[in-house]
Amino acid sequence: MYETADATRGVVSPLVERVHTPCGVCGSSEREPFHAFSDVVRCLDCGVLYVSPRPSSAAIERFYSRAGHYDHWDREPGRKAMWRRRVQRLLRLCSGGRLLDVGTGQGDFGAAAREYFTFEGTEISSEGVRLARERHGLTVYHGDLLDLDLPRGAYDVITLWHVLEHVLEPRKVVERCYALLKPGGIFAVAVPNTDYHLNLSKKLLASTIGFALGRPMFREVGFPRLLLESPEEEIHLTHFTLASLCWLLRSKGFLVCERGLDDYSADNSLRARYEHYKSNLFFQMTGFASSPAIFAAGRKPTP
Ligand SMILES: [Zn+2]
Repeated sequence: MYETADATRGVVSPLVERVHTPCGVCGSSEREPFHAFSDVVRCLDCGVLYVSPRPSSAAIERFYSRAGHYDHWDREPGRKAMWRRRVQRLLRLCSGGRLLDVGTGQGDFGAAAREYFTFEGTEISSEGVRLARERHGLTVYHGDLLDLDLPRGAYDVITLWHVLEHVLEPRKVVERCYALLKPGGIFAVAVPNTDYHLNLSKKLLASTIGFALGRPMFREVGFPRLLLESPEEEIHLTHFTLASLCWLLRSKGFLVCERGLDDYSADNSLRARYEHYKSNLFFQMTGFASSPAIFAAGRKPTP
């Protein structure tokens, strides 16, 4: 019990190296704690929430490369339909061509996309690369996008499906993607919606009251500490809103051509489809993103 309380209150696990970093969106080191018992801070310059200190790059790569890391995805058969919906969304923005998917995981998106695109992917997880190649025969480059030797101005589309929140320096990734795209190319990004997750403020309040009463409940609030223990743990290093995501794209030269919700659910039941339709309608009417994930696409200007 004592060890659990310590872990949730911020004692650093000796198994995970952690490093302080500046804001990955604007580069500023000016920050303030977002919550006393999480490792999330708020950038005082651009306002984005990010994790600092965060697990080191080596610790994160080891975490993603563990055998069986992707097993839990295989237990969600609805993911195939989710990937097909995303491919159709891209096809409303472009008509095919050469596509690079950054952080392609075990290659399920590539398997759906290659019917319409010439597909290439990048992945830092050796386990993901192995699965994508063995299961789908995909072209996947092993390594960090920022380190790989990829052709500039060569791609029609670059996608990051729930990847930008995981990377160490989002602004450098966006810059790199801009350089790799052809003029007129599409940059499509989906990330979790911090506006939605901050609606968990009731939980935060309940947790704070619980803490005051001596009950360590902080794993229950919106931003738990990154412990890198469970394969299903999400290593989110930057917490975007639709506004901060679009700002980042514009600041790196993209013309934002679509902003909205990301239909990320693997649940294909009528009820889940209706819920997404309802959230989408609400977004169209109010501009407020009330669902757990958001989407933005930018076009690289033509000269
Ligand atoms: Zn910032």
